[in-house]
Amino acid sequence: MALATPIIAATYAEIALKGRNRSVFMRKLINNIRAGLKGEPIGKVLHVESRLLIYLEDADAAERVAGKLRKIFGLQWVSPVVAIPRTEIDDELMEDLEADRDPRLTRVCQVACELTEQHRGQAQTFKVATRRSDRAFPLNSPEISRFVGGAIHQRCHLPGKMTDPDLIVNVLVLKNDLLVFTGKQRAFGGLPSGSSGRAMVLLSGGIDSPVAAWLMMRRGIRPEFIHFYSGRNVAEADVDKIIDLVQTLAEYSPVPLNLHLIPVVPFEMRSIGVVPDNFDMVMFRRFMFLCAARLGKHNSCRALVSGDSLGQVASQTIRNLGAITPDLEMPIFRPLIGMDKMEITAWSKTIGVFKTSIIPYRDCCSLRSPKPVLNARAKDLLRFSEEMDIQEAVFHALKDSEKIVVENKG
Ligand code: ATP
Ligand code: MG
Repeated sequence: MALATPIIAATYAEIALKGRNRSVFMRKLINNIRAGLKGEPIGKVLHVESRLLIYLEDADAAERVAGKLRKIFGLQWVSPVVAIPRTEIDDELMEDLEADRDPRLTRVCQVACELTEQHRGQAQTFKVATRRSDRAFPLNSPEISRFVGGAIHQRCHLPGKMTDPDLIVNVLVLKNDLLVFTGKQRAFGGLPSGSSGRAMVLLSGGIDSPVAAWLMMRRGIRPEFIHFYSGRNVAEADVDKIIDLVQTLAEYSPVPLNLHLIPVVPFEMRSIGVVPDNFDMVMFRRFMFLCAARLGKHNSCRALVSGDSLGQVASQTIRNLGAITPDLEMPIFRPLIGMDKMEITAWSKTIGVFKTSIIPYRDCCSLRSPKPVLNARAKDLLRFSEEMDIQEAVFHALKDSEKIVVENKG
């Protein structure tokens, strides 16, 4: 018998811990699910017994929809569900109870055993976990677990274990259906997209910054992206790779994402002859942050995000990080600051951006003069900023910026 999977069950993560704000987060999560699954054959989305149930109108879409749900932040686990109509259960159950014999629960046990066989893998032990949303169901949760567990034990020859079993078979009793599911796929947890507000992400073509963006998206940030290119115009800069990176990140976003492309020429024109070579890199980074903050303000962003990792390169020493933006009012989030390259690379692969990140690209940072200072002082950077009129460079760079809207094509 083929198992139909017209419902997907999903558990949510930290939202469960939210006190009075819980309903706000929940509403956001459900809206994001609807937006993220736009175009898919989705029916109702119910919130039952600490779970979301996403009803599908086409069982064949189950795997694809489960894959998309895994990319919706706020969800922790996703599992396709087998729904058994109560009409296939209730009459037989009443008969058994009236005859005063153990309930057979024929359909439930049949489905539970099939799912166990499908998902048991290397499992040595199992348990049945039952929740009863319909309190009128004539068996209570421990009784259901006992009878279904007995059938699995007998037919699949798997011993039951109440604490820390290898496999959990879930049974959820609703008014019209009884749901059976196992084989959870892990989602990424975090908070629903948009629940923490917006931030402007400094996105280079490298490995680090897309990971930084993703980690903040997972904390509920809705990102705007800013990328600085060298060359006379966007066509010459060949920014396809940057668009590809945003495209992959957009798979985790319920709404299209904006990418702002900013020329670095206005910085170079003003810094030349004013900023000493060894300060070029830190001053350029200051220019990037000032542009990002100004553009961010116009786009309702309340923070900046950067892919710095302490000590990774000369411009990311503790002194330089502290000196670059003494006058910036916006907080800068640096989620990679304590990670090493191996950890960052592992995330990059998990997220799906790694193969794009390693495509060769002439990032403007790699074109800056080598051997930057390691211990810049804020007051020197402020002096150079005045001498080159960095605000004027920011103004011209933003005036020549271009915006691209990147859709989730998933
Ligand atoms: P990545 O850090 O993304 O792997 P990278 O290591 O080449 O690229 P770094 O020189 O380490 O870049 O720059 C540190 C951070 O500065 C980046 O993570 C990014 O947030 C920002 N940044 C660097 N270059 C650019 C750029 N061209 N446009 C926007 N932001 C940039
Ligand atoms: Mg880096």
